[in-house]
Amino acid sequence: MLLPDHTHVADISGTNASHVTVPLWIVWADRPYRLCPNCKESVQVVPDCPASMDPSTGETQSVNLTHGCGEWLAVRWIAVDSAEKVPEAAEWLEVWHAQDVHAARWVAVQDLTNELRAALARLAEPLVAGETKADREAEIITGRDDTPGIYHDGDQWLAWAHDVRDDGETITVYAAEIQEKHK
Ligand SMILES: [Zn+2]
Repeated sequence: MLLPDHTHVADISGTNASHVTVPLWIVWADRPYRLCPNCKESVQVVPDCPASMDPSTGETQSVNLTHGCGEWLAVRWIAVDSAEKVPEAAEWLEVWHAQDVHAARWVAVQDLTNELRAALARLAEPLVAGETKADREAEIITGRDDTPGIYHDGDQWLAWAHDVRDDGETITVYAAEIQEKHK
């Protein structure tokens, strides 16, 4: 079955305790993030089937999605009772997945903006006795061109992070953008 990108299906039809056949397909989407929102360790972007059938009742239940750190790594899924309903469920999941990634990127931009704004405010505070401008700059620098965080690229201050979803992609907020927003 050809499904939209980032969606998957599993046929987990089975028989319940009364030996009645229960037709059941689980359709699910990839996670919208690569790192655990809590512990920041890598997670399975393409999850295994996130639901199963309780053999005693025939009811659908979520599998345990708890990360090692205790965070529940939710997966969006829909249960349908016929193969014909799978494509429409997958279309919904594709839309939700795109929205989830969009929302996660938006949050990441807000976080970077707040970090950079706080750093620039600290930079603008008067130096104390014995403190040099270089000392103050060293205090706010948390990253480099190859390490996420805040640094000066020779042109301006910026804060960057790896993309929430795509390997090799980055999210960057520049000081000039923050100053734009003040106007
Ligand atoms: Zn975790």
